[in-house]
Amino acid sequence: MLDNRAVKKIMFSLGADLCGIASVDRFNDAPKGYHPLDILPTCKSVISFACRFPVGTLICKSHIPYTRTRNSITPKMDSIALDFCIEMEKRKIICVPIPTNESQWDKNTDRYRSIISQKHAAQAAGLGTIGRHSLLITPEFGSMVWLGAVLCEQEFEADEMKAPVCNGCNLCVDVCPINALQNPEINQQACWNFAFGDDKEERVWKISCHKCRDICPYNLGSQNSLVELNIEK
Ligand code: SF4
Ligand code: SF4
Repeated sequence: MLDNRAVKKIMFSLGADLCGIASVDRFNDAPKGYHPLDILPTCKSVISFACRFPVGTLICKSHIPYTRTRNSITPKMDSIALDFCIEMEKRKIICVPIPTNESQWDKNTDRYRSIISQKHAAQAAGLGTIGRHSLLITPEFGSMVWLGAVLCEQEFEADEMKAPVCNGCNLCVDVCPINALQNPEINQQACWNFAFGDDKEERVWKISCHKCRDICPYNLGSQNSLVELNIEK
């Protein structure tokens, strides 16, 4: 029988840098239609994982490295989730991959949502906590991670949830050029309209803003002593 450690070992062997497990009862606050049981009625655990996002992309003069990394890490996450499900099926355990970067319009709340919130799944699984800028902050790598998740029929011992690290300094709120963080819930559409899109001059699709990520004192994580960045703020 697989236990919590064995599940993580499989996930790490596929390329994940962090992995945690949440019991399905930690999702009671999920919006209607976006609870794990709304997707997989037999779900008992949500397995969340993260891969590191290279921190040097934050200090580049060009937006292309950050954009390209984001575009290529997304299929990597989906591929790990897919391979993990197959590995679990070989062990007769049913799992379902949740797409990493795909959202659909939720008419009840007037916003795009992933079928399961990757950030909330990661928080419930003890990977980190969501900061005021609405990004997940992990102790190991700060917000420089991308997230994936898998729903699972098997019950496993759940990991402890982390204590919040966001100190409420509001630097992220103040730095946002379009005030998208003024309210507790990010103005998702305003952020997307401003930060993502075609650059008419360079004729390329790019992500041109991650200022809230750059400025956060925990952007590299409280335990990440390997790198130091001189970020222009
Ligand atoms: S990415 Fe830019 S526009 Fe979006 S919330 Fe952060 S600072 Fe604001
Ligand atoms: S910049 Fe400050 S308020 Fe914003 S997420 Fe980081 S610690 Fe929290």
